[in-house]
Amino acid sequence: MAEAKIIDGKAFAAGLRARVAEGVAALKGSHGVTPGLAVVLVGEDPASQVYVRSKEKALADLGMNSFDHHMPADLGEAELLALIDRLNADPAVHGILVQLPLPRHIDTARVLARIVPEKDADGFHVVNAGLLATGGAGAIVPCTPLGSLLLLRDTLGSDLKGKRALVLGRSNIVGKPMAQLLLQQDCTVTVAHSRTQDLPGECRRADILVAAVGRPEMVRGDWIKPGAVVIDVGINRIPHPTEPGKTRLVGDVAYDEAVKVAGAITPVPGGVGPMTIACLMLNTLAAACRAAGAPVPAEALA
Ligand code: NAP
Repeated sequence: MAEAKIIDGKAFAAGLRARVAEGVAALKGSHGVTPGLAVVLVGEDPASQVYVRSKEKALADLGMNSFDHHMPADLGEAELLALIDRLNADPAVHGILVQLPLPRHIDTARVLARIVPEKDADGFHVVNAGLLATGGAGAIVPCTPLGSLLLLRDTLGSDLKGKRALVLGRSNIVGKPMAQLLLQQDCTVTVAHSRTQDLPGECRRADILVAAVGRPEMVRGDWIKPGAVVIDVGINRIPHPTEPGKTRLVGDVAYDEAVKVAGAITPVPGGVGPMTIACLMLNTLAAACRAAGAPVPAEALA
């Protein structure tokens, strides 16, 4: 059997970013509005600092405003809530992103709930989760599942209808919204998790397999239905097999095995990862369009 088509998330994300940049310029021209995202980072977690820097750079690259709020690790919850209130009230801020994880003394759910739903660029607010689950218009969709869906649509087009999809993982930020999106696309959706019985068997029935477990290379080649489309959301850093002291990134799928069985597959890195930031930019543009009464880019609509 021929090797799987490699789904080039990096290339698709570059195209999406270019489309977002065009949308930003158009909104400036038509309404005099520059989309703006407030990026709130509490503490000095090195991984979070890297993520935040790349988000701020992407905003600048696409012509959007970035309002950076880098706060000390001992910031009190009340001060953080007061900052969110100020950002909610600021008309130049169209989206608010609070980088997770927050320090342990802060209640994450309370902070996320404080963001007004229309500025919830990450799509984590219960109102946006509820809108997505009920098919309501105007939901802001979490970036990683939205990016995964855009790659799937690009690969399969209208062929999503009636496909058997398995989402491996049920987190609020990836698994659950991914399942809702696939359901909306008329897939027949199964959600698997750590208590699922016969996980390999469940995976083998799937025409579309989305892996979001956070377990390096857990999905083996013989778990995959021949010809299935595999979206590997996992980002796991493991010791390098041949170079001592070094590490490498792998997904939740054993790529070298899967590529021989699947019909199409996202690599790690270079698959879903670049789509997440591109979709954050898209969500920010969409929020600014809604605030200005301008048409919302179709790709942001679930
Ligand atoms: P999470 O919150 O830890 O959720 C993991 C899910 O996997 C849970 O539902 C868990 O089941 C399930 N699970 C864990 N071990 C399992 C096992 N042995 N068998 C079956 N199911 C198992 O993780 P997440 O935030 O959704 O992230 C998942 C992965 O995606 C991670 O590798 C993360 O780094 C990556 N990620 C990537 C991006 C990106 O930009 N590409 C963005 C976000 C996340 P239970 O619910 O039963 O515990």
